[in-house]
Amino acid sequence: MLLVQAVVVKPGFVVDVAEVAEPVCGPGEVVIEVRRVQLSVTECMLMAGADVALSDQLARRLEDGPVQFGGHEFAGVIAEVGADVRGLEVGQRVTAVETLPCGTCAACRRSWASACVAPAIIGFTRPGALAERLVVPASAVVAVPDGVSLAAAAAIQPLAGAVHAHAALDVRPGESVLVLGGGVMGLLGVAVARHGNAGLVALSTHSPRKLELGGRFGADALIDAGSDVLAAVEELTGGIGFDVVVETAGGSADLGLAGLSTVELAAQAVRRGGRIAMVSVLDAHAPLPTGLLRSKSVTLIHPRSGAGDHACAATVFEHCFGLVQRNLVDPEALITHTVQGLDAIHEAMDITQHKSTYDAINPAQMELS
Ligand SMILES: [Zn+2]
Repeated sequence: MLLVQAVVVKPGFVVDVAEVAEPVCGPGEVVIEVRRVQLSVTECMLMAGADVALSDQLARRLEDGPVQFGGHEFAGVIAEVGADVRGLEVGQRVTAVETLPCGTCAACRRSWASACVAPAIIGFTRPGALAERLVVPASAVVAVPDGVSLAAAAAIQPLAGAVHAHAALDVRPGESVLVLGGGVMGLLGVAVARHGNAGLVALSTHSPRKLELGGRFGADALIDAGSDVLAAVEELTGGIGFDVVVETAGGSADLGLAGLSTVELAAQAVRRGGRIAMVSVLDAHAPLPTGLLRSKSVTLIHPRSGAGDHACAATVFEHCFGLVQRNLVDPEALITHTVQGLDAIHEAMDITQHKSTYDAINPAQMELS
């Protein structure tokens, strides 16, 4: 049996690199040699044994021994093409959409792939790209166009998430957008609003460096989160508040996030009848300012991460590659830390889980030779 190196989680949530069976290319599938893989905060938390979404699934699988885990944001080169695959060839630079609808549940049979009750997720429910090679259905593969680096391609999934949030918010021409938080999702939210059809785009964050990046990514107004943000909101909007607020800063203080303060701020800064996208991941039972949201008739939207409702199709990824190719969005400007080889998994996890300590913006990327 041929073997490849891969990251595995062992019982007790011990993360290691081990040899696993080389992926076999079946009909309708391709094998991809991984060149770049970017960690996500969520998968690092899962691998470290944190109690977040999908953690019970991983815990159950660990009862049977080590689990190959992680790696849904990646780019590489096609190494093998299975039978019945059209339009893809060995050597082609590609990535893949991470969520794979089951194709047989009641939702899938009605072509509501986004409502699939049992989707497979690359790197979670099936082996992912924290490995030298992975096998994926050809239907999930998206070609990386010329002019887009593999580093940028490995960072495309969060951009797809920002595009999906923008679409879910139904931003109409000229509407004002306030983004709270200058991390990856905040900065990408600014860029997508700018190149969507927003009018005034404002960013509020604490870090001068992130404010500067926000300006480069297209924000018209930069608000120091330590200042009187609501006073700035009043001035910028003639006292009515923003049409749309994108909340990306809330979440666990252990991860350097803002707790619930930015959720309260979002409810205060949005106009009556406006919309808030909750991009941040809060505690499962976090209390919300429901009185204020109700009295202002605010619509609260929880966009899915990644390509969201479009997860079954490559369209959003291709759109994102277009934004990069036309130099409208530069994901590489956010890649602050790159480590070499799978053996650096612990370092990469540490950077990703302690971004403020490392002064990192993107999660760590891993370069595989
Ligand atoms: Zn399904």
